[in-house]
Amino acid sequence: MNCIFCKISQKEIPAQFVFEDEKFVAFEDIHPKAPVHILVLPKEHLASVLEAKGELIGTTVEIAKKIAAEKKLEGYKLVFNVGPAGGQVVEHLHLHLLGGWREKPGKVEV
Ligand code: 5GP
Ligand code: ZN
Repeated sequence: MNCIFCKISQKEIPAQFVFEDEKFVAFEDIHPKAPVHILVLPKEHLASVLEAKGELIGTTVEIAKKIAAEKKLEGYKLVFNVGPAGGQVVEHLHLHLLGGWREKPGKVEV
């Protein structure tokens, strides 16, 4: 399958990883829209949250919370784009973790 996030998960394409376990990875977005912009995703190829069970979505969010705590983010945004009409470009489920603004929260379009 010609999926960029599958290839990153399988280390066929490099990325700046910040987390990995048996089933999930997190890495820095190549075009950051915030001072901290990390993508959290399951290694399993699922097109979007529409294909995912609640438990998997929950674990994805928990990993993002853990990374945000490690990075000492005071506040942040968590975004799932769902489908092309929702702004999703890469058709492999991923959660955007955005934060690190110094003053007021940034307005982001991801
Ligand atoms: P989407 O719009 O699908 O929700 O978000 C896809 C995100 O993946 C975008 O923010 C984009 O910058 C990021 N992205 C696309 N290709 C790559 C890549 O090859 N490496 C990394 N690290 N991020 C990517
Ligand atoms: Zn994939």
